[in-house]
Amino acid sequence: MEKKQFQAESKRLLEMMINSIYSQKEIFLRELISNASDAIDKIYYKALTDDTLVFDKDSYYIKVSADKENRTLTITDTGIGMTKDDLENNLGIIAKSGSLAFKNENELKDGHDIIGQFGVGFYSAFMVADIVTVITKPLGSDTAYKWESTGADGYSIEPFEKDTVGTEIILKIKENSEDESYDEYFEEYRLKSIIKKYSDFIRYPIKMDVKGRRPQEGSENEFEDYQEEQIINSMVPIWRKNKNELTAEDYDNFYQEKHYGFDKPLKHIHISVDGAVRYNAVLYIPEKMPFDYYSKEFEKGLELYSSGVLIMDKCSELLPDYFSFVKGMVDSEDLSLNISREILQHDKQLKLIAKNINKKIKSELQSLLKDEREKYEEFYKSFGRQLKFGVYSDFGANKEVLQDLLMFYSSKEKKLVTLSEYVSRMPEEQKYIYYASGETNERIEKLPQTELVSEKGYEILYFTDEVDEFAIRMLMTYKEKEFKSVSSGDLGIEADENQEKTDSAADENKDLLDHMKNTLSGKVKDVRVSKRLRSHPVCLATDGEVTIEMEKILKAMPN
Ligand code: ADP
Ligand code: MG
Repeated sequence: MEKKQFQAESKRLLEMMINSIYSQKEIFLRELISNASDAIDKIYYKALTDDTLVFDKDSYYIKVSADKENRTLTITDTGIGMTKDDLENNLGIIAKSGSLAFKNENELKDGHDIIGQFGVGFYSAFMVADIVTVITKPLGSDTAYKWESTGADGYSIEPFEKDTVGTEIILKIKENSEDESYDEYFEEYRLKSIIKKYSDFIRYPIKMDVKGRRPQEGSENEFEDYQEEQIINSMVPIWRKNKNELTAEDYDNFYQEKHYGFDKPLKHIHISVDGAVRYNAVLYIPEKMPFDYYSKEFEKGLELYSSGVLIMDKCSELLPDYFSFVKGMVDSEDLSLNISREILQHDKQLKLIAKNINKKIKSELQSLLKDEREKYEEFYKSFGRQLKFGVYSDFGANKEVLQDLLMFYSSKEKKLVTLSEYVSRMPEEQKYIYYASGETNERIEKLPQTELVSEKGYEILYFTDEVDEFAIRMLMTYKEKEFKSVSSGDLGIEADENQEKTDSAADENKDLLDHMKNTLSGKVKDVRVSKRLRSHPVCLATDGEVTIEMEKILKAMPN
């Protein structure tokens, strides 16, 4: 039997990879910065066990510099550098990850900050560059090397001069073509925003020389140009900080910085879980409804980070629709990413996280309702409808989660009340939870159908939102009490004392009733003498499942 190795056409493989694994070109900067961060981390981890090495955090950094004239973009780091072997193995062999090997060799239990694992990210540089030059000097050696490649055609290595330990990656940015411009990668503003977007929480400073204009000292209308080195990233993510040291203002600032909304958050939720799947999350319940919230354009989702690097900016799997208003981020080191690090390989961990988050949001909303009623009502004004849609959709599968978060206007309290409050006030003989539907509270108040129920002293919930009645139909009962529309045929209220009177009235006026029924034929099913009216002469009642209000909505819906 002959055993053979698979052959790979590495040229084609590289081309395929460069052009098809990433959805966006800007990702190259995330990949190169991640590598630089890994390289610094390696010194950090080595120093933990090697007494001759001191890790002085302040002397480690990553720098991004653009040179538009020469069309180069350079990413410099003060990391561990690469030997000639490293260059040949890690940059010369596709899918070979020196970082993954480092993690394994050093058995880093806590090495989750090291980002690299697939050995392909580096080549993303060729999406924007024709030539990539790597100048590097490894820790503990005097020889530096220059590695250079134009992509698919292979690479060259030669000894080179470099004073300090670390690596410099020089990208010769592609010329603009008819359908693609690459000039954006020289623009300070653009580079800053890419760094902020993907690499804001890299643990080491990412610096840039930033140009500006400022008033000259001692003069009011003379200006001078200046250039200074700035740190672009925030470095320590808020979710890694100790909760006790964070103020409400810190959370508010994070909300604004991340552009989660233009409002202030109503409440923040900070979660750190060290269980079956480890993750941190900072979530917000916004104060105001985004302008496009109830439109098709609105996209739900949380930002998803893996070890501090942004993977997805709207991960929709993390939120159920009924909590789609929640903003924020999740960071986990336990996600299995695919090689582009843009999507996930398995969603097992994600499902666990989502389930966990869901529970937490619910309990936070419940405590808001309990302890900060006013705030909850404010929240409910913006997003209550979404909760009711949640009850209605999925055939009521979410009612357990949501029913205690619902509120309706009460005829008695003249304010929003919960179902549990309603039921707790019900007199013993009251069988049903009564509700009345209409356009506004004022209109409902005038409905003749409410008279008998009100006279009995029973509370009525006012349904003014189209979804209300539909949602309640899905609930069916609350604490074993059925819901009853005040306009339904049988109200379940004892009115026997009236029975004789109504019977005789019906007999006496049979001709009149028949005449009315004939006149209205096709429009009403029956005309009856009513037991429930007090001051009004007439009212509409329904027999079937669908009430008048529901019928109106169903009729208005496009088929
Ligand atoms: P990954 O980061 O997933 O390992 P890359 O293709 O991004 O894959 O990088 C391949 C390898 O090249 C890294 O694992 C690392 O060993 C090495 N490398 C890349 N960039 C640097 C750098 N700036 N400093 C030191 N080593 C680097
Ligand atoms: Mg990498």
